[in-house]
Amino acid sequence: MTQLYAELAIPLAVDKLFTYTVPAQLRSTIRPGLRAVVPFGKRSVVGFIVELHTVKPNISQIRPITDVIDAEPPLTDELLSLARWIAEYYFAPLGEVLKAAVIQGATPPSKRMVRLASPPDQHSSGGYARSSKHLDILNALNGVRRMSIQQLQKRIGVKNIYTTLNDMAQRHLIVIDEEPVGRGVLPKYERTIAITDESRSLWRQWLLDARNGKPQYQTQRTAVHKLLAIDAAEIPLAQYLRTSGVSLSTLRSLNRKRLLDFGRRETIRSTEYDLYESSLGTQNIVLNPHQRNAIDKICSGVESGQFQSYLLYGVTGSGKTIVYIEAIRRVLEEGKSAIVLVPEISLTPQIVRRFKLHFGEKVVVLHSRLSRGERYDAWRMIQAGKFSIVIGPRSAVFAPLKNLGLIVVDEEHEGSYKQFDQTPRYHARDTAVMRAHFARAVVVLGSATPSLESYKNSSIGKYELLEMPERVDNARLPTIEIIDMTKERQERLAIFRQQRKTEFKEDPVKARASKRPFVFGMISNRLKEQIALRLGKKEGIILLQNRRGFAPFTECPDCGYVEMCDNCNITLTYHLTKKHLRCHYCGLVRQGPEVCVKCGSSDIRYRGFGTQRVEEELKLLFPEARILRMDLDTTTGRGTHDRLLRTFSDGNADILLGTQMVAKGLDISRVTLVGVISADTQMLLPDFRSAERTFQLLTQVAGRAGRSVLAGEVIIQTFQPSHYGLRHVSGHDFKAFYGEEMAYRRELFYPPFSRIVLVECRGKRENEVAGHAMFLANWLKQRDGGYLVLGPAPAAIARINKQFRWHVVVKDLKSDDPSGNLLHRVLKEALAASARLPSAKSRSVRSIVDVDPV
Ligand code: ADP
Ligand code: ZN
Ligand code: ZN
Repeated sequence: MTQLYAELAIPLAVDKLFTYTVPAQLRSTIRPGLRAVVPFGKRSVVGFIVELHTVKPNISQIRPITDVIDAEPPLTDELLSLARWIAEYYFAPLGEVLKAAVIQGATPPSKRMVRLASPPDQHSSGGYARSSKHLDILNALNGVRRMSIQQLQKRIGVKNIYTTLNDMAQRHLIVIDEEPVGRGVLPKYERTIAITDESRSLWRQWLLDARNGKPQYQTQRTAVHKLLAIDAAEIPLAQYLRTSGVSLSTLRSLNRKRLLDFGRRETIRSTEYDLYESSLGTQNIVLNPHQRNAIDKICSGVESGQFQSYLLYGVTGSGKTIVYIEAIRRVLEEGKSAIVLVPEISLTPQIVRRFKLHFGEKVVVLHSRLSRGERYDAWRMIQAGKFSIVIGPRSAVFAPLKNLGLIVVDEEHEGSYKQFDQTPRYHARDTAVMRAHFARAVVVLGSATPSLESYKNSSIGKYELLEMPERVDNARLPTIEIIDMTKERQERLAIFRQQRKTEFKEDPVKARASKRPFVFGMISNRLKEQIALRLGKKEGIILLQNRRGFAPFTECPDCGYVEMCDNCNITLTYHLTKKHLRCHYCGLVRQGPEVCVKCGSSDIRYRGFGTQRVEEELKLLFPEARILRMDLDTTTGRGTHDRLLRTFSDGNADILLGTQMVAKGLDISRVTLVGVISADTQMLLPDFRSAERTFQLLTQVAGRAGRSVLAGEVIIQTFQPSHYGLRHVSGHDFKAFYGEEMAYRRELFYPPFSRIVLVECRGKRENEVAGHAMFLANWLKQRDGGYLVLGPAPAAIARINKQFRWHVVVKDLKSDDPSGNLLHRVLKEALAASARLPSAKSRSVRSIVDVDPV
């Protein structure tokens, strides 16, 4: 027999595959996509079988695979192709892509438990065992309830028994259970009310009989009526008790009468999203022609069974969610499944509820706060086909659904779709397009403020553009007013000077004694007036200040000393609630200063405005207003976003003040005023996307106002009133903004006209880091390609967490190197060469490649 070889991807930061031989006994079961145990140096590691072949490689000593872990591949061919694409495009080792992204839900936290299959008497004879190993295993399991694979290996003194166990499980000799381990694992089961057709048939008669019965029958009758209204065979008990008003004792009495049963089922649903939500306003919707058209187009794509991509550009409040829902309904009719990506799940409880309401049990939500055990449960149940709709943040793009028909990427412009902090640094939107491609599915990118990349793709016909230019239900887009804070400041300063003059005139001694400084708050007269108006009318107000904490920096006016982080080149933010200084990058916390540490002056000044400071100012101006602050500091607990949002939408708070968290996806009809405290925080960042980000953020937050019958008004405060981004926001003119921004990008060779690749070198010693970056930059510059090399230069924040950071930025011109292949090749060479530098070998400098950084 010819020797069979396997190529394995091993989760290490080495960009290559490793070859092993396939022992004869594994030949019949081995397949690409399975995980295998292999010797690696002196260790054993788990790798993924990527390929099998019979070509003898040119390596002296090839070792055999020790064992194969899975009976079924944890990932499909489609996901394997996707992983390969990611590895290639984002310069990431395939093993790491597979382990850290594509099947992260399938790995660690589980412990595999083995037990005998019932009925047990079959085993005593050993008649079913095929080998002595089988027999040893059966004997070891005999008389015990179950055993972990590790225990079993110890007991029988044989390692790597996965293949044997998988084989025995297939012959129904044993059962292998997956059991999550570790902390934070919630119970996998929940209690349910089980309703059979039989109990349904009993109800009618009982309702008639009980009509004139004892008083307690009345409550039981009400309970049965309520159950009748729910068309489900299983109802989660806890949730039902919470929402129905029916008590447990009533249900118990019904159970005693055999009118219902209690059951248990595996669950992963978190309690953050209640099923029985009535006030969603999705009933009796008559779709408008734009929605109809979008749905028809997407559905015809789904029916074609081919890859299709759409950009759904619909203004805020144009009813995009319903379009997704109707498209998914079609997908399910075709017997297919769907993925819905949302930027951050805890920020979008409303959209999740709408899907739950329409598709109930078919939906699973993967949110970022799932414990590893819960994630694993979800992953396995998705793979087993128990759900057909997966909603989640970027990693949900890897959900192991079979027969995928549609991927929706909601708010496709959002930066959070890019994984920036670990390998692989993939963009979930672009990955979604690729996955749809491999799966011959449809992808819909939806946004009120499409990214320049996507809009350009739609204009060159890569995506089909679907437009929804109007708000639903005749609601109008809000009016937007820009307030020039420079002018406001001058005016108020003039008034202050006038006042001081009068004070001096009236009583010079007292005036001199009261060293009253000029204090400039951040709420303009116009905004103040509008807030007062809404408070009077009990309408909702949303205020955005995209900075948390009290003040972004503290400064001594006498010597100019500014408090900086010890680990990062960044100022420390003062937090009022805890009265301390905190670094928003590395988490360092320091006592708030009483006096200047440099000169001893007691006159510490807080500069800039965070949400806490705006909150203080609001409290002074509107002591009667009920204010909710929503930022990272107030939303640490699970479900806290949702609670804050509910309080606000129910009218139990007047003002919702927060960071960009308040800007997204909220559909609250009582909001008629949106105020932006300072539009400048984003606009002045040294990033070529800062204008785009500003336009998007402001348009999105403005879109929260006036979403129903009540007209909305938006007030944006800025020190840069003539900035073009702002001008187009107030005109609701995405296309004009797009035109202007594209001209600027073309001029400076920025995306979408180029592809940017950022190489970051990191290390504790700056000269080594700089040297490494210099080497890379020079290597790239020496090769002539269709690209421009910028740098090396220290990053905008030159040090984070004690690590110095230097950047080399490459702009790969799409006109000269359309596929990016050229740059790809040269960069691989450069990285390989730099890996031989002493600083790389000693691991004192690491270089990280980020393709299409955000
Ligand atoms: P978007 O995401 O485009 O901002 P949503 O999908 O959140 O908008 O929809 C806004 C609101 O309008 C939702 O409450 C939705 O139920 C409602 N809605 C959607 N389509 C219609 C329609 N054709 N007529 C009336 N209301 C609608
Ligand atoms: Zn000082
Ligand atoms: Zn820090």
